[in-house]
Amino acid sequence: ASKELGRNRLSYFTQALHDEARNRLQLINDMRSAIENKQFELHFQPITKLVSGRICKAEALIRWHHPERGMISPAEFIPLAEESGLIVSIGDWVFREAAATAKRWCELFNHELQISLNMSPLQFQSNQLNIEHWLAYLQTIKLEARFLSIEITEGLLLNANDDVKNKLLQFRDAGIDVAIDDFGVGYSALSYLRHLDIDQLKIDRSFIQNLDTAQSDLVLTEAIVIMAQKLGLKVIAEGIETEAQRQLLLDIGCDYGQGYLFSRPLPAAAFEAFFISMQNSD
Ligand code: C2E
Ligand code: MG
Ligand code: MG
Ligand code: MG
Repeated sequence: ASKELGRNRLSYFTQALHDEARNRLQLINDMRSAIENKQFELHFQPITKLVSGRICKAEALIRWHHPERGMISPAEFIPLAEESGLIVSIGDWVFREAAATAKRWCELFNHELQISLNMSPLQFQSNQLNIEHWLAYLQTIKLEARFLSIEITEGLLLNANDDVKNKLLQFRDAGIDVAIDDFGVGYSALSYLRHLDIDQLKIDRSFIQNLDTAQSDLVLTEAIVIMAQKLGLKVIAEGIETEAQRQLLLDIGCDYGQGYLFSRPLPAAAFEAFFISMQNSD
């Protein structure tokens, strides 16, 4: 009987694996037509100056409205987009959509807001990434490059070959800021910071989460803030959820913050309304 049970369990397991694989293939397949079916949308989360509460930037975060499954999180589908190579065309769409929104907001909000967008390391490794096309698009819509920044992760810089470095330089030469996302959790090899091919540093949410209870997190966060400032980088704390966290970050001299305390990521129209209501309240 126990042998029988083992066999059942094994077949249950292989069945589950099979379902999982089929599920992934199905999602990848659905993703192929998601751009032309207009199922992607960018949401925008405010980044505020901690002293004044003023919104000065917004991070663009992709959302997928799947016709049958509803909203799928980027944490679920971005890895599949990377695996399948679809990240290149999705990344193209993200860039153009973010740039078009930045252009609209320049007119609406009088040149105040920079939009940052996330880039996967795989976009840099792809020979299909065409930065010239992107820059040409900015000229077409007449958007100054300084209203955009790209967020990359430490891993990309750590393994950067000449090709990746050149691409990063191309962005910076054009006037697009480069930010390190999720700083502190990856490899924390500081050597790449010596070359200073970056403009902004975003401290990972995991440091901020327990800022008010874990002394070591506070010490490390303060050290990161001081280091970044001395290197001339803008520092943004991610994932601020409480007033206590905001106050501690102010105390250690952190300039910018992002998190649910200020706002969740919002669809463009809701972001615009939020921005206007914040302007009117000060
Ligand atoms: P990320 O770039 O580090 O983005 C921040 C994530 O933290 C977002 O999750 C945001 O909604 C969430 N967040 C913001 N404030 C708080 C907070 O106070 N508390 C908590 N618990 N979470 C907060 P989201 O939108 O689900 O995105 C997850 C990740 O997916 C992003 O992490 C980024 O790595 C990736 N991603 C999102 N959009 C894109 C995109 O257009 N392209 C690429 N390549 N990756 C993207
Ligand atoms: Mg990001
Ligand atoms: Mg981040
Ligand atoms: Mg993060």
